[in-house]
Amino acid sequence: MFKRDAPLLMNPTPSWHKLSWMAEFIAAIPRYKENTISTARLAIESRQHHFAWAQAEGIEFDHKRKGILHFYRDKKGFEHAAQVSKLLAAGGLPRRAVTPQEIAAIEPSLHGKFYGGYFTESDSTGDIHKFTYGLAKACERHGVKIYNEHEVLSVGSNGQSAFVQVKHAGETLSLTFDAMVVCAGVHGRRLGGQLGDRLNIYPVKGYSITVNLPDADSQSAAPQVSLLDDETKLVTSRLGDDRFRVAGTAEYNGINLDIRADRIQPLIHWVNQCFPGIDTRKVVPWAGLRPMMPDMLPRVGQGKRTNVFYNTGHGHLGWTLSAITAHQLAGKVMAWSRSGQD
Ligand SMILES: Cc1cc2nc3c(=O)[nH]c(=O)nc-3n(C[C@H](O)[C@H](O)[C@H](O)COP(=O)(O)OP(=O)(O)OC[C@H]3O[C@@H](n4cnc5c(N)ncnc54)[C@H](O)[C@@H]3O)c2cc1C
Repeated sequence: MFKRDAPLLMNPTPSWHKLSWMAEFIAAIPRYKENTISTARLAIESRQHHFAWAQAEGIEFDHKRKGILHFYRDKKGFEHAAQVSKLLAAGGLPRRAVTPQEIAAIEPSLHGKFYGGYFTESDSTGDIHKFTYGLAKACERHGVKIYNEHEVLSVGSNGQSAFVQVKHAGETLSLTFDAMVVCAGVHGRRLGGQLGDRLNIYPVKGYSITVNLPDADSQSAAPQVSLLDDETKLVTSRLGDDRFRVAGTAEYNGINLDIRADRIQPLIHWVNQCFPGIDTRKVVPWAGLRPMMPDMLPRVGQGKRTNVFYNTGHGHLGWTLSAITAHQLAGKVMAWSRSGQD
C-alpha cells in the first residue's frame, strides 16, 4: 500500500477529512455484504435505463456487449471471488467460474498464466465521454439549459428558493432557482457543507491510459472482452477498433489531479506483459477523482433544506449506477414538487 507503484496508495500524512473517512469506512465494514448486494441490484436496474436512453436518443458510444472476464493468478484470489460471486448472485448478477482453458477461449489475445476466472456474460462497456456528450445534447433537445464553464462559487437555500453564485468569463452572477440538485463529485462535500448537510465524500484518485491502436497488428493483439485483473486491480475496455483503455489504481491523497509518471508506467508495463503485440507508443494518460462515500453507496435524496437534493458519492461506479440514481432522484424531486414544495 505504501509502495510507489502499488495498486492502492496512501499518503500517510494525516488530515481530519482522511481520518474521519477511514473511521466511517471501517465502521461500514459489517454492512459489506448487504451493501454489495444492493449495489449489484442497482447496477442491473441502471443498465435498463442506460440502454433505453441510448436507444431513444440515438446516442452512439462504442457500446460493446461482450461481457467482462475477471481473472486470478492464484487459488486464494479465485476462492475469494467465489464468495463475492454468491453476493452478486444474491443481487441478481450471475457469473460463471471458468478454467484457464476457457479464459484462453473467451479472450485469446490475453497472455499469462492464470489459476481461473469468472465470466459475466451480461456486462458491457462503452466510451463514457461519448455517452455523456450525447446525453447532454439529448437533454438540450428536451429543453434543458446547460451552463458550461460556470464555476459555482457558493450555494444557499431558504427552503423556498435555491441560490447559486457562479463565476463566468471573469464575471460573478447570482442565480435563483426553485430547487437544486448537487452532483459536484468530490466538491459535493464543500457545497453540501454550505447547505448544512454533511457528506463525507473522499477523493479517491485513479488513473487510466488510452492506448491508440495505430495498425492492424495492434488492433488484433488487443482484447475485445472487458477484463479485470484482480492482482493489479486493473480493468480494461476496448473502445471501437482503434482504442484500448486500461484503468485502475486508488490513491488517497486529497484533491489532486497531477498525473504521476510512476503511476502511469505500471499500466503501460501491464499492457506490454498481457498483450505483447500492442504498440504502446501512443498512450494518452488521464487522472480522475472518484467521489467515494465511506460505505461505498451513493447519496441520493433530500438534504436538510427541502428544496435541496443530492445525487452524488457514486465512488468507483459512477457511470454504472448513474442512470438508476438519476431515475430515483427524479422521482423524489417530482414527489416534492407535487407536495406543494414544502
Ligand atoms: C480511473 C477511473 C476509472 C473509472 N472507471 C469507472 C468505470 O469503469 N465504471 C464506472 O461506473 N465508474 C468508473 N469510475 C468512477 C466514475 O468516474 C465516477 O464515479 C463518476 O465520474 C462520478 O460522477 P459525478 O458526476 O458524481 O462526479 P464527477 O464526474 O467528478 O463530476 C462532477 C462535476 O462537477 C463539476 N463541479 C464540481 N464542483 C464545481 C463547481 N464549484 N463549479 C462548477 N462545476 C463544479 C466538476 O467539474 C465535474 O464536471 C472511474 C473513475 C476513475 C478515476
